[in-house]
Amino acid sequence: MDNEILFIKDLELKKGSKVFIRCDFNVPMDEFRNITDDRRIRSAIATIRYCLDEGCSVILTSHLGRPKNGYEDSLSLEPVSKRLSRLIKRDVKFVKDIVGELAKDAVSKLKPGEILLLDNLRFEKGETKDSDEFAQKLASFGDYFINDAFGVCHRAHASVHAITKYFDEEHKAAGFLLKKEIEFARNLIKKPIRPFVAIVGGSKVSGKLQALKNLLPKVDKLIIGGGMAFTFLKAVGYEIGNSLLEEDLIEEALNILRKGKELGVKIYLPVDAIVAPVFSEDSVMKYVTVQEIPKDWMALDIGPATVTLFKEAIDDAQTIWWNGPMGVFEMEKFARGSFRISHAVAESNAMTVVGGGDTADVVARAGDQEEITFISTGGGASLELIEGKELPGVRVLLKKDLD
Ligand code: AMP
Repeated sequence: MDNEILFIKDLELKKGSKVFIRCDFNVPMDEFRNITDDRRIRSAIATIRYCLDEGCSVILTSHLGRPKNGYEDSLSLEPVSKRLSRLIKRDVKFVKDIVGELAKDAVSKLKPGEILLLDNLRFEKGETKDSDEFAQKLASFGDYFINDAFGVCHRAHASVHAITKYFDEEHKAAGFLLKKEIEFARNLIKKPIRPFVAIVGGSKVSGKLQALKNLLPKVDKLIIGGGMAFTFLKAVGYEIGNSLLEEDLIEEALNILRKGKELGVKIYLPVDAIVAPVFSEDSVMKYVTVQEIPKDWMALDIGPATVTLFKEAIDDAQTIWWNGPMGVFEMEKFARGSFRISHAVAESNAMTVVGGGDTADVVARAGDQEEITFISTGGGASLELIEGKELPGVRVLLKKDLD
């Protein structure tokens, strides 16, 4: 994946043409369908504005959630059109249709400078099946295809993969967001400014194993927190009570520790934890060292000594990559460790990159968003890039690689 990606600024967008933009408007909503975090919508604006400024009209598409069988009111993109309109201060037309007559009619009436949003791509079965037939219908709407939906690039879906067959290199490219996502991840892996510290957390070793393996030869320090740390602690002989454990990965955990030693990577594990007898916000809790986790209790956050240790470890970092919360941050009682690490990352002088939906959420709740160099909009996709994988939606936009 070393080829350069086709970039919107290198295209000659003809005035008056229609630009089909695959966005990632997969935003969280509450039970009343209020958008609770519009970062993904805001992140798409640069590309949309660029096309409008070039005298084009734009047709925007996205998926939202996982519709099971066609149209679902609760997964319509209508609320996104309203929010986008407010953010971009322009009218955003919306049709409850994707490739049917309503959509075709709206596209044909679109004038330069106008914005049209189609409904949830996943209401059509062809989207997740990477169907050529569906992709061709979508492609017929635009003179150009722009992909700015980093969050789905790890999937070979019609609107990011099959659709690229219907545009030549002069008519397809990555938008500003996608290009930025790819560049941040590539630079991290290829030429991080040292010391490079990776902080990983979250629930499972299994989910991050490949990333850990790929990162190990590249980092100077590896900090492991969250539920996954307890498989490592168990592996080195601690009793971890009822804390999260992936027994089958104990050997892998040991391998990582061994490999780290061989490579001279300093690996940090929690030294204390906040434990509770039940997995609940209402549960009692106490602070213990990792030597003293009571039988039948579970560790749900890192403790204050660990926060101090981890802060010390990132003090001289020039590059920090963070993926995965330090504890069960969804419950206030167990969110402190994650928030304090978020503050520490935000306050550091390093270039800081945060990946993963949960970690982005932690940073937002901790009020540190503005202080982070780059927060990735894609959880799975960002992890796969760090794992060194080639993303299907990116591969088809690389120069001289017409898949
Ligand atoms: P992941 O999707 O693997 O990044 O995991 C994120 C989830 O890990 C969050 O929902 C956290 O609540 C959970 N988590 C973090 N630390 C712990 C822990 N010590 N025990 C149980 N779950 C945890």
